[in-house]
Amino acid sequence: MRWTVLTASKSSGIGEGLTYEGDADVSPGSYVRIPLRRRMVDGILLARAQQQEKEAFAILKIESVLGNRPLLTEPQMKTLEWMASYYRCSLRQALQAWLPSPPWTTLLPQKTLHVTLLKPEEPVRGTRQRDVLDLLSSKGSMPLAVLQEETGVSRAVINGLTKRGIIEMTEIAESAQEIPPPVVSPPALTPAQVLVHAEMRGDRRPTLLFGVTGSGKTEVYAALIADCVREGKQAILLVPEILLTEHCIHRFQRLLGEEHVAVWHSRLTGARRRATWRRIHNGEVSLVIGSRSALFTPLQNLGLVILDEEHEWTYKNEQTPRYHARETAETLCRHAGAKLVLGSATPSLETWARAKEGRYHLVRLPERYLSQPFPAVRIVDLAQAQCGSLYPLSPSLLAAIEERLQKKEQSILFLNHRGIASALLCLDCRRRVVSPDSRLPFTVHRIPGNELRLVDHTTGLTLPVPTACPACGSVRLHCIGAGTQKVETLLKQRFPEARLLRADSDTLQHPEQMRQLLASMRERRADILLGTQSVVKGLDLPQVTLAAVLLADIGLSLPHFRAGERIFQLLSQLTGRSGRSKPGEVIIQTYRPDAPEVLLAAGHNAEKFLDDELALRIHAGYPPAAKLIRLLLRGSNVQQRATVLASNLKQTAESQHLPLTISSAATIFGGGKLWHILIRGAQPEALLQQADVQDAVVDVDPIECV
Ligand code: ADP
Ligand code: ZN
Repeated sequence: MRWTVLTASKSSGIGEGLTYEGDADVSPGSYVRIPLRRRMVDGILLARAQQQEKEAFAILKIESVLGNRPLLTEPQMKTLEWMASYYRCSLRQALQAWLPSPPWTTLLPQKTLHVTLLKPEEPVRGTRQRDVLDLLSSKGSMPLAVLQEETGVSRAVINGLTKRGIIEMTEIAESAQEIPPPVVSPPALTPAQVLVHAEMRGDRRPTLLFGVTGSGKTEVYAALIADCVREGKQAILLVPEILLTEHCIHRFQRLLGEEHVAVWHSRLTGARRRATWRRIHNGEVSLVIGSRSALFTPLQNLGLVILDEEHEWTYKNEQTPRYHARETAETLCRHAGAKLVLGSATPSLETWARAKEGRYHLVRLPERYLSQPFPAVRIVDLAQAQCGSLYPLSPSLLAAIEERLQKKEQSILFLNHRGIASALLCLDCRRRVVSPDSRLPFTVHRIPGNELRLVDHTTGLTLPVPTACPACGSVRLHCIGAGTQKVETLLKQRFPEARLLRADSDTLQHPEQMRQLLASMRERRADILLGTQSVVKGLDLPQVTLAAVLLADIGLSLPHFRAGERIFQLLSQLTGRSGRSKPGEVIIQTYRPDAPEVLLAAGHNAEKFLDDELALRIHAGYPPAAKLIRLLLRGSNVQQRATVLASNLKQTAESQHLPLTISSAATIFGGGKLWHILIRGAQPEALLQQADVQDAVVDVDPIECV
């Protein structure tokens, strides 16, 4: 029997696998050792090889099959093949998403050292020995690695205790451990939640759970996970940012017991990652919670996949394989016969379109838990506000913060993550000053000598700041945008007594720092939390009664068809952060107080926004009404190569009668070094079959496209 085997080897030309001779009764996904260029290497069995007429080479034999079960299941292997073909990467590149880097022997069950307490009453000297015995007397026996991690004692301390016969060390094979099944304590749902839970169970299609912030989507997930586990199956819960998920992890540890839940994310160390992988592969885990890569963990009997906040952009992988977790989860669930649940208060347009077509099942939770009212929303027009030297803090915002300080309540202030780059805005026509080279807004920089200059980061053009607006001639030009540091300084000036916390990528580098920050807010050791949107969204802080976005415009005027969607999601998220236990208020500061995404978010009207936006996309021919493929180019002569490739593609499309829109440009944040070609239409993939795009990286269904 001939098999196609994938290796982790990066040699070119074998990304699609090699043919080997092997037994007929091995399963796809099995771990094999194969000869390759006079060495033995790790491989994974893909599928039966296609029959070939004549072989130029002698077919070598698979040397051995390792482990007592395949590394990947059949549904997982099928999804891997789908990824390679849909996202146009090699099978080997797709495999990188599924398995930690080789050698894969470390994925087979290992022998681990366990420590058992023999003489609990024996007197010991020293606090470190005492710590070991205290921990052991509560647990009886535990893995050495865990004991050392929790007590921080050295191996010498353990050896000392072993010598005296107080503890004993034994080697246990991981797979030999008995794992009692989880005891599930299902949640008590509200009547509205009971209803959507029952509806979801009765429908095999992927379900969109469209529930406002605070409606208790987490509790519905818990009920679904409880069902799945009681049926002897396993579940995956994907979350956009694992740092913000601590309370959610505790919630599910209470549901199933700590030992049945695994947490998976990209910051796991190599050893931790492998140990967790083995636990999951060995069937010890009933629920994996993690970021997008948790979708690829080796659960044997998958029954349920949930994407919480399914609209979040972090579900798209921005490196090869450039997969989207939602699409990939849909394929995996189809092959595994598992249920897919997408939860959001502001669904992506992709998901909304499918729900409207009936391809997805739609259920709604339109009310907050215990009918908690939505916060009142105030829109502040920054062009009218007299901020003076405290810009971007408007007088109404300052008054609202002051009021919270007096009442000993808390405030959260958001800045967009690109808040440091500023632009030059005309307060009359409300346009940004754009570069004549790239037609994109200029960035304003202060150069040595304190002079302001306009810089076009895509072409390198710089100009002095004009005295009048190039579009309407007004002299009311204003430099907008401020970083968290600047706002922090202003707040300290204005409220010297307030206890202020700043949360951005500079101040938060470890999960522990995030934990401390949240604890400070919960325990009311801080009054104001100032943070970038990516750090602060999704927080559940009961004492917060004021949430404000300082500049709701950054991103709005990027030439991006998703700009409106993104700002709507951000503002809706924000309204979910205030008043979680008592009535709250939201302030939106903006230069575009009449923009529909601002007004609809302020009115808590997600459904109208989605319907209007979908109509716009259909009218303009953008996703999800059309398909988009992006080709990325970098390196020498990038501008010329991109232009030539784009014009070749246009010619091919024309000669093949493919109705496609094709454009090429420098990317906004690529500093002129990264160019892209956007191909948009009904079937852009048909063009890639006809044309040579070897020079570029292919990004199917891109999220970033400016
Ligand atoms: P969402 O994820 O939809 O924004 P959450 O799941 O965070 O909402 O729920 C909001 C708050 O309401 C949480 O503090 C949660 O504990 C509470 N809650 C929701 N449903 C229930 C329920 N059935 N029983 C007890 N508390 C609930
Ligand atoms: Zn103007």
